[in-house]
Amino acid sequence: MKMIDSHCHVVTSEAYEADRQEVMKELELKMEAIIECASSSVDFEKIAGAVGSYGFVYGAVGVHPEEAESWNGETPALIRQYLSNSKIVAVGEIGLDYYWRDDDAALQRDIFLEQLLLAKDTEKPAIIHSRSSMDDVLEIIGKARGARGVVHCFSEGKEHAKKALDLGMYLGFGGVLTYKKPGDMMDAFMYAPLDRILLETDSPYLSPVPFRGRRNRPDYVEHTVKKMAELRGLSHEDMLRITNENAKRLFSLGDEVQ
Ligand SMILES: [Zn+2]
Repeated sequence: MKMIDSHCHVVTSEAYEADRQEVMKELELKMEAIIECASSSVDFEKIAGAVGSYGFVYGAVGVHPEEAESWNGETPALIRQYLSNSKIVAVGEIGLDYYWRDDDAALQRDIFLEQLLLAKDTEKPAIIHSRSSMDDVLEIIGKARGARGVVHCFSEGKEHAKKALDLGMYLGFGGVLTYKKPGDMMDAFMYAPLDRILLETDSPYLSPVPFRGRRNRPDYVEHTVKKMAELRGLSHEDMLRITNENAKRLFSLGDEVQ
């Protein structure tokens, strides 16, 4: 069975500058789909190019909280324009990140809410990033009721997981699940209903064991899904089938008109 990575940065990250074409060729053989997430509008055209060139590549367009300063009056229209491409399947990645800086928290919140409302309005799911900011993220999702999406690389415990799930969100899990000390998110993973779990890498970051510390790749979801299966008492096949179905349902993968 081919695999789906619901969150990566292979098309746009410098980490693949030297061998991107080779990597893409190898991925094409193993991956049913990968969703390439933008960080800012600088990435949109590259992503549109890649979804046109590779059948298995899908994209998300949005402005990441760390790029909040790049937001301007024309950005929403630009996002809408790219969303009219049927292979640009989500608004992302968007959210809040208070870990690196929070002096611009008000701006981050404004942009996050505006993009969530845009996602709701265009009936596209949102791919949400949260670091040291989960309470505010959940509050803003609550303000955009009806918006669908995933809180990617979910890193909080069961309580926050319950709140996110109650708001209709999926939870994305990646390589951290394979670490010896995954932290609170293990409770969230065990708690989440099987039909709300997404498999992801966040490549080039957060490689699963046995590649921890090295450059990640979408096909390394293989190691994370094995761990998921073990933890939830399922076969590798079943776990992969479930996470593939979840990604297809949330992002309507395969429904696009080519
Ligand atoms: Zn990411």
